[in-house]
Amino acid sequence: MIIRKPQVLIPESQLDAGIIRKLERYARVCYKSEDKIGEHNDNFLKSIISRGHESVIEHEKVTVMFIVDRGITHEIVRHRIASYSQESTRYCNYSKDKFGNEITVIEPFFLIGKEEAFRYWEEACRTAEKCYLALLKNNCTPQEARSVLPNSLKTEIVVTYNLREWRHFFRLRCATPAHPQMKQVTIPLFLLFKEKLPLLFDDIEYDRDFPKQHYAEVVLTDDLFMCE
Ligand SMILES: Cc1cc2nc3c(=O)[nH]c(=O)nc-3n(C[C@H](O)[C@H](O)[C@H](O)COP(=O)(O)OP(=O)(O)OC[C@H]3O[C@@H](n4cnc5c(N)ncnc54)[C@H](O)[C@@H]3O)c2cc1C
Repeated sequence: MIIRKPQVLIPESQLDAGIIRKLERYARVCYKSEDKIGEHNDNFLKSIISRGHESVIEHEKVTVMFIVDRGITHEIVRHRIASYSQESTRYCNYSKDKFGNEITVIEPFFLIGKEEAFRYWEEACRTAEKCYLALLKNNCTPQEARSVLPNSLKTEIVVTYNLREWRHFFRLRCATPAHPQMKQVTIPLFLLFKEKLPLLFDDIEYDRDFPKQHYAEVVLTDDLFMCE
């Protein structure tokens, strides 16, 4: 059984400042003020958003890949203005060589340093793995054997939201009441969106008390989610 940390992958080209130019172009149609493109466009888009005229920013989308546990993806997929592609426990057979003949789980960071609790968690995952592999050996298909896989199972999910939905998602999922393992991936991702597209994300609040040392790594990739 492999224990790993969560990660977020995002193609570097996705947060290009060209997005802002395009959004301004689309929004100017509403006011027939195309002659003002590029003039004070910061204030223009900001005031549009602050007035709740958010449909304008639905024209552009961003796609990212989360590598998290299945508990977290269960929450992510509750967001409906979205497209998803997720690693399937029906079709993936973790006893195969390409998976190392074992399952991979996401380390629950809040159990680190709580030795006994961590041991219980690890034991539960190892028992689940043992039973999963035994079910496969007993002629069960992966979609049958998956019944015993743990919530902590690592999964990959490609998520596409338009920018309005990203704003909504970050508002809910970076806020204090969100699950800690959700904030672990959403806050660093949000901070990247905010750095690259401040006009669109500057006004959103997040849980500033969430410890930085637990932020997941956000990896900038090429368009195929490949790293250098
Ligand atoms: C801290 C927290 C705790 C939660 N706890 C629970 C829980 O205990 N149990 C549980 O089941 N869920 C829980 N949820 C999930 C929550 O109820 C939502 O399903 C989830 O956050 C998706 O949010 P949404 O519906 O606003 O977003 P999206 O699906 O992303 O929709 C975006 C927006 O579009 C509009 N919209 C979308 N669909 C409709 C529709 N059918 N009708 C009208 N307007 C629509 C709404 O304005 C919505 O806010 C929790 C969420 C959070 C953040």
